[in-house]
Amino acid sequence: MSRYLMDKYQPLVAYTPGEQPRDMQYVKLNTNENPYPPVPGVTEAVMAEAGRLELYSDPVCIDLRDALAARYGVARQNVFVSNGSDDILNFAFMAFGSPRAYFPDISYGFYPVYAGLHGIDAHPVPLRSDFSIDPTDFMALDGFIAIANPNAPTGMALEVSQIEDILQANPDHVVLIDEAYVDFGAESCVPLTAKYDNLLVVQTFSKSRSMAGARLGFAIANEGLIADLEKIKFSTNPYSINRMTLAAGLATLKADDACMANCQRIIDTRQATVARLRQMRFEVLPSKANFVFACHPHADGGFLYRQLKARGVLVRHFDSPRIKDFLRITIGTPEQMQTLFEALGSILEG
Ligand SMILES: *Cc1c(COP(=O)(O)O)cnc(C)c1O
Repeated sequence: MSRYLMDKYQPLVAYTPGEQPRDMQYVKLNTNENPYPPVPGVTEAVMAEAGRLELYSDPVCIDLRDALAARYGVARQNVFVSNGSDDILNFAFMAFGSPRAYFPDISYGFYPVYAGLHGIDAHPVPLRSDFSIDPTDFMALDGFIAIANPNAPTGMALEVSQIEDILQANPDHVVLIDEAYVDFGAESCVPLTAKYDNLLVVQTFSKSRSMAGARLGFAIANEGLIADLEKIKFSTNPYSINRMTLAAGLATLKADDACMANCQRIIDTRQATVARLRQMRFEVLPSKANFVFACHPHADGGFLYRQLKARGVLVRHFDSPRIKDFLRITIGTPEQMQTLFEALGSILEG
């Protein structure tokens, strides 16, 4: 830290992304990336744009927003896009978070970071002992609410009717539902955006659409909330989505059936993974995401993480009190999961 950093930023603790090591080739099951490559047509669309980089990208992203509007049955004014959903979460905390924000105590690690960045009072709400969210804890609160559904890193999802109860109980505050993993089996709240002007649904192309490296996220909401987000975006960086990513997003939506078919393959692999881990005596939380959260009665989470890494398999371990016994394991291809099972087998035998 230099002596020039503004006082208000000195206590800020930044987000720690999952490791992207370069020392060797790992079976990478630690950052919830999609194991399948972008769908057909995406590479060609990106290459075509690469020849036009002397021109700025479209700041209002008309074609992409129209394609998303058609896909989700809403209008262009109900769709916002930016450079990854992290960008949108940041804007939402900035625009709607004051003076305080509520979110589950075990959830996406960026929520407390954005609260800290914008001087918002963070109120973590404890999950139940089974790691589920108790919707009654989110009734009639006096601030902004952010809930990941399915939640991360648990993978557990609320029913849409439970989220509707939360929306009705908080009419004067924005309720952000982060649906980064919704395409892996949970029910989306997008249809509720027509009915509740305080609902902001955020999704991403990173997980279900194999585009983590392109950085593309979107939000669907009432047009007032979308206009507010546009105001923030146009006060920071109107060209936050580059030409290649805009083209990749459009090409991906043209082949969206292929994306959703990949999601189904991942759901099938998840079911097989849960069964296999339970055979190995792991406790596995019920997941609706492209990862599982599991712990073993006789093996410490940190130990398993290190032993797996030594065998070339990378998973995510969080060194925080309530979840330090758990591993978050991304669902890869069936072959990658086989490598994981063999490594776990040899560790648990030893
Ligand atoms: C991965 C993830 C995001 C971020 O996605 P990007 O679009 O890649 O920025 C947001 N929320 C949750 C809960 C995530 O797990």
